[in-house]
Amino acid sequence: MFVVMTAGAIEAEVLGVKSRILAEGLTPFDHQDLDHVVIAVVGEIGGRKPALIEAFSVLPGVERVTPINSPFKLTSREFHPEDTVIRVLDAAIGDGSLSVMAGPCSIESRDQLFETAEAVKAAGATVLRGGAFKPRTSPYSFQGLGVEALRYLAEAREQTGLPVITEVMEPSQVDIVAEYADILQIGTRNMQNYSLLRDVGRVARPVMLKRGYGATVEEWLMAAEYIVSSGNPNVILCERGIRTFETYTRNTLDLSAVPLLHHLTHLPVIVDPSHATGKRWLVRPLAIGGVAVGADGVMVEVHPDPDAALSDAEQQLDLDMFRSLMDAIVPVHEHVRGLHGEPVLAGVSAAGSGARGGDGLGKH
Ligand code: PEP
Ligand code: MN
Repeated sequence: MFVVMTAGAIEAEVLGVKSRILAEGLTPFDHQDLDHVVIAVVGEIGGRKPALIEAFSVLPGVERVTPINSPFKLTSREFHPEDTVIRVLDAAIGDGSLSVMAGPCSIESRDQLFETAEAVKAAGATVLRGGAFKPRTSPYSFQGLGVEALRYLAEAREQTGLPVITEVMEPSQVDIVAEYADILQIGTRNMQNYSLLRDVGRVARPVMLKRGYGATVEEWLMAAEYIVSSGNPNVILCERGIRTFETYTRNTLDLSAVPLLHHLTHLPVIVDPSHATGKRWLVRPLAIGGVAVGADGVMVEVHPDPDAALSDAEQQLDLDMFRSLMDAIVPVHEHVRGLHGEPVLAGVSAAGSGARGGDGLGKH
């Protein structure tokens, strides 16, 4: 449930409500809306709901208490109507600009990373990606260079000024990855690794949560809820394809998830057409599609010599293909923005049904 404070509620009243929530064994999370403080009450509420609504409603400074039926609370638009914007170094994700995360599947050497980093930066990428710890289906495949690769990433950030993103696979790696990377990535195979989600919820780095290849949108948002409720509000969602009966593509890119998520949640949404399709010639059309349906950005794999790559050779773009992808998606993004207008950041009540309105594309 959400406790909506009156527009004139004073700090002592907000604190009073929060301590009452704590006294019930529940946790308060507050959010300053345009003119109200809204306090989300999270925890095991069960059959106490009617009694708690009554009790919280009469506390000083409370305007109303809204019961919330959706299982995700802190990630919902109802709690937080305006878009979350994530800022790392000079990049902003979710502010209506086009984020482009590009780089190799795996970091294979310093030269390979630097050559790619310079090229993607020059072509307009906003974030450099590169795998250091690799989740491979086979234990006999290349597993990544580990900490050595993290050092190369940090050096590439110094060289290019681009923030860097890399995957963290297990709780014991969280601190070291957070030391080197600007954004932590949780891969598809770990979307429901709850101890990992809690641990990345405790670090001061944004997290990009990829969709589990067999996960529903609701399960995905509940996974994001683990991170946010552990204390980290800076979560980016990445649609990277789900497994269906189709075998021509590695996965099936669920483009409908993009406007759906924009309707349900305030978190930014990125599309990864590389892992979705598994084929380099399909990456460009689906990147265009992702941008057209309103994604906040794309993540694509780029390698100077893709056929020689130690992982995901078939889906990585070469440097020319990446430049041509940029030439295609930048105008699409401009066009879509023109169609759907500027960010909707104001004028939505806390109990409203979503800042982006009926088309789910309010900000683009
Ligand atoms: C990756 O982006 O490096 C990766 C392994 O992707 P996914 O978790 O989506 O398979
Ligand atoms: Mn890959």
